[in-house]
Parts: sequence; structure tokens; C-alpha cells
Amino acid sequence: MKYQKITMNPNKKIALVAHDNKKRDLLEWARFNRDLLAHHEIFATGTTGFILERELNIPIHKLQSGPLGGDQQIGAKIAENEIDFLIFFWDPLEPMPHDPDVKALLRMAVVWNIPIACNRATADFMVSSPLMDSEYERLVPDYQSYRQRRIEWEHQSLQEA
Ligand code: PGA
Repeated sequence: MKYQKITMNPNKKIALVAHDNKKRDLLEWARFNRDLLAHHEIFATGTTGFILERELNIPIHKLQSGPLGGDQQIGAKIAENEIDFLIFFWDPLEPMPHDPDVKALLRMAVVWNIPIACNRATADFMVSSPLMDSEYERLVPDYQSYRQRRIEWEHQSLQEA
């Protein structure tokens, strides 16, 4: 398989999301890592972002609340290379009305090979990596052949169109 390299800058674009029962966990984690987070550009779903901005006093790009489209906005930003790092404390013990959005967000993170932490231990290991403050070449499958896959309709194919 061919790969394409996407450069992640030393200043990362980090998305933070926590389900309601996990917001306290994320807040404690973010407080501990406040100085590190302050060096990066932070995005968050609406309520998570509101709480973190107030408690940490760092600027945060706040999107819609998760169930109102925030998870999808983050997924879209990953696809557009506007977010390159995801900390997502999802709740494994509560059914969510926006479960398809949660799944879609996790899927986008894998499609675009961005680092994802879904719990505190992983988040700790991730942010203590020396790669955190250096440039990193992220390998992403070259999706060009997927875009040009053969689909025929009537007398045409995608390749001819
Ligand atoms: P919230 O969304 O930060 O707006 O609560 C989180 C989520 O449920 O995805």
C-alpha cells in the first residue's frame, strides 16, 4: 500500500471531548497538564470546552455540544486536517443518544491515523511522549486509488468521468 505523509507541527491541534460522567476525569487530567496544553491549540465539544476554558483559563475553540453535532464537527476537522490529536473520554457504561456520532468520530481518527486517547492512562502516555513537542510525519494510506475505484453507472465509470 502507498502512503502519504502528513506533517504534524510541534504545536498540535488537540481536540478534547468527555461524556458527562467523564468530564471530572478530563478536567483533573487537563488541570495536571495545563501548561502543556497551553502550548497547543485546543478544540472541544461545547460543554467540555466551556468547563475547561473556565477552569484552566486557556483559550479553547468551542464547537457544538457533542449530541448536537460537536462530535461530527470534530470528525470533519480531522478529515480536513484541522485537528491532529484526539483525547476522547467516552463513557463505556451509559448508552448515548449520539452513539453513531461517537463511533463515526473514532472511525475518522483511525482513517486519518491520528493519535487517540480514550482513557486517562493512554492520555498520560501520549502527552509524555517526546513526539509531543516535535514535528511528526503521520503516515496516511494514499486514498487516491480508493477515490478512483472503478464504479460503473450506465455507460460511464468513475475513471472516465
Ligand atoms: P459536550 O459533548 O462536551 O458538549 O458535553 C460531549 C459529547 O457527548 O460528545
